Amino acid sequence: MPEDSQRPSRHRDEVVVPLRKSGPGDEALDAIVVGGGAIGLACAWRAARRGLRVRVLERDRPGAGASGVAAGMLAPVGEANWGESGLMRMAIASARAWPAFASELAADSRLEVGYEACGALHVALDRDEADELRRRFELMASMELGVEWLRPRGCRDLEPGLAPTCAGGVHAPGEAAIDPRLLVAALAAAVEHGGGEVIVDADVTGGLIEGGRLVGVATADGREHRAGRVVLATGAWSGTTPWLPPEARLPVRPVKGQMLVLRGSPELRPCERIVATERVYVVPRPDGRLVVGATVEERGFDVQVTAGGVHELLREAYRALPEVAELELVETLAGLRPGTPDNAPLIGPWGPEGLLVATGHYRNGILMAPLTSEAIAALLASEPPPGSAQQAHPGRFAGESEPRLAAAPALEETPR
Ligand SMILES: Cc1cc2nc3c(=O)[nH]c(=O)nc-3n(C[C@H](O)[C@H](O)[C@H](O)COP(=O)(O)OP(=O)(O)OC[C@H]3O[C@@H](n4cnc5c(N)ncnc54)[C@H](O)[C@@H]3O)c2cc1C
Repeated sequence: MPEDSQRPSRHRDEVVVPLRKSGPGDEALDAIVVGGGAIGLACAWRAARRGLRVRVLERDRPGAGASGVAAGMLAPVGEANWGESGLMRMAIASARAWPAFASELAADSRLEVGYEACGALHVALDRDEADELRRRFELMASMELGVEWLRPRGCRDLEPGLAPTCAGGVHAPGEAAIDPRLLVAALAAAVEHGGGEVIVDADVTGGLIEGGRLVGVATADGREHRAGRVVLATGAWSGTTPWLPPEARLPVRPVKGQMLVLRGSPELRPCERIVATERVYVVPRPDGRLVVGATVEERGFDVQVTAGGVHELLREAYRALPEVAELELVETLAGLRPGTPDNAPLIGPWGPEGLLVATGHYRNGILMAPLTSEAIAALLASEPPPGSAQQAHPGRFAGESEPRLAAAPALEETPR
């Protein structure tokens, strides 16, 4: 497959940031961040806020990966699953951090970030789905997620556009959403305003290892970028890193997701909050657009939008909210989620000294951006990361039971 076809659909016109083609020079940097998605940019921004000198290297444009495709739900309730309590604790902690993260980002970037505390309604559309949702509701309630069970009538009182087949639902008033493209643009601007750099068309192809320590990376244009630490934030491509020693390769795989954008009008809004069934979700944007997602497909680096994918999403959205049939179909997208064997992210030191990883966020990278970036910024500043992030330690698949937090040396010891 040609390399370009391995990359997700692009939206170059939608990300407005001060982009650089190259860095100003080889002055001492505290951190290089490889990957300009929501995770890499958030890590760089939070590190810059701590006074660290950071440079983001993005081989395409900010948001060219999954972050430019995501629906932007900040919705831990929808992710509640048996056997994933560690992941849920991280998701809940990050969701709680979102309001402050969003307002600090708006202030630092001087841009609109599109955070909406819209709430969510998880609905069942027949008796079988209702039985299953009721079981998940018990799990959600046991996690004290602030949810309530609603009868069909209660669901339709909240969302009159719901299909008459609605058989019950879970109201999650604390769920929120953000427009990920606004988020990416704001993060890139905040990095630059904070004294950092976001460099585009910078494809990292080599690692600079000296005395067993990763001291920087090389880009395809032949430039070397040296820093105290390197943060790997290359999303779905994190498992294919020829620039790292083979033993440091991560168990990350691409998981394809297709998605649609519909457009209504202020008078034609099929729903006011996130509406989710077991097969589809619909996220309303304040400007009248409606995001419908998403398929979950194991197809390697394929990002083709298929007739079958579009059909499935429209059929399921129509089943829940029949008025979607009246809307204009304005965009179809596909992106690659960075999946891991246990669906939880990989955050912290890994592989050679000098490397930190922030990847593997699968379905929740937008939701987890505050927690992940706080953890990475703390590690870069030689401070302890938030406790909930320590469950994401990358060594867990290599049999390491504890996070390797001591691997981050104090900044004074950092080679420049
Ligand atoms: C359809 C869909 C819907 C989703 N909905 C949600 C949602 O509602 N809520 C939520 O929280 N999450 C959602 N997600 C998941 C979320 O999008 C991801 O978890 C998140 O975007 C991952 O961010 P990232 O920065 O790690 O990766 P990416 O955004 O993929 O960024 C990685 C970047 O690294 C760059 N890169 C790769 N290799 C190199 C290299 N060698 N040199 C330089 N740069 C490189 C890429 O170009 C890319 O820009 C969704 C995902 C999909 C696909």
